Amino acid sequence: MNQHLSFEFSAPRNPVEISKLLTVHDRLKVFSPEFFSVTYGAGGSTKDGTKDTTLKIQKLGSSVAPHLSFGGDESRIIEDLLHDYQKAGIRRLVALRGDMPSGQIAKMKFARELIEFIRHTTGNHFHIDIAAYPETHPDSPSVESDIDFFKDKVDAGANSAITQYFYNVDAYFRFVDNCMAHNIDIPIVPGIMPITNYKGILRFSKNCGAEIPRWILKQLEGYQSKPDSLKAFGLEVVTNICKKLLDGGAPGLHFYTLNQALPSTKILRNLKL
Ligand code: FAD
Repeated sequence: MNQHLSFEFSAPRNPVEISKLLTVHDRLKVFSPEFFSVTYGAGGSTKDGTKDTTLKIQKLGSSVAPHLSFGGDESRIIEDLLHDYQKAGIRRLVALRGDMPSGQIAKMKFARELIEFIRHTTGNHFHIDIAAYPETHPDSPSVESDIDFFKDKVDAGANSAITQYFYNVDAYFRFVDNCMAHNIDIPIVPGIMPITNYKGILRFSKNCGAEIPRWILKQLEGYQSKPDSLKAFGLEVVTNICKKLLDGGAPGLHFYTLNQALPSTKILRNLKL
């Protein structure tokens, strides 16, 4: 694949999950992705899991980008983590504000502060990816302010962005056009969430503010007791979205794998990539 391809894993919480994930990694590695990324619990719940998984995948010869948030940690802890990654030869990070568990208070309010901290602590060692929201971040009062704050992250030193997932291709292209109008010229890679499960996709989308168009939602509702039909429909819908994105000039695809190889594999095979 000439375009960018990456796969995101959720940080495993125990050794059994880690070893399962390494099998998933082996299956996805055949697509020669630019990198795998590993999520980070802003509350600190997966700090060790993120680091362990990152280093294990790296040992298998793949590029890995751990996600990172300030969460409730002191600067020193994040500085140590950055230096650990630097020493281990990690060259890429996904820098996020993260969502703190309720009742916990974050040390920094916005991702921009973390990007500034990374640049201040480790210079240009890391390629920094940031989050982007074609349908606007749920906390944002307006599209305009969301773009302005996105630009702040780019100006602070981010190199590229990965979007929240969406099922409305126009939202992505509109967002990219809007960024260009604001002189934001970093690559904005669309995040792709395969559809394999009705309740799961509903829950995720409610939490992150991604809209499921009514025609998709209604069809998924109808397939609740027919998992094979639901998966076939989800595969067709998401394959078409990917095709439209790539045909329209998106720089590549970033898959939210939910630690499964098959859904992304089927989409990539459909796309003949
Ligand atoms: P920010 O860019 O800081 O933006 C957060 C909100 O604040 C936005 O509404 C923005 O418009 C607003 N804002 C920014 N600056 C200002 C300012 N100066 N004044 C007022 N408002 C401002 N979460 C995790 O916990 N762990 C993960 O591993 C993780 N991985 C992710 C990967 C991707 C690709 C994406 C898209 C999201 C991921 N998330 C993850 C979710 C993310 O942490 C949440 O969406 C979070 O609410 C926002 O993070 P951010 O980095 O986009 O924050």
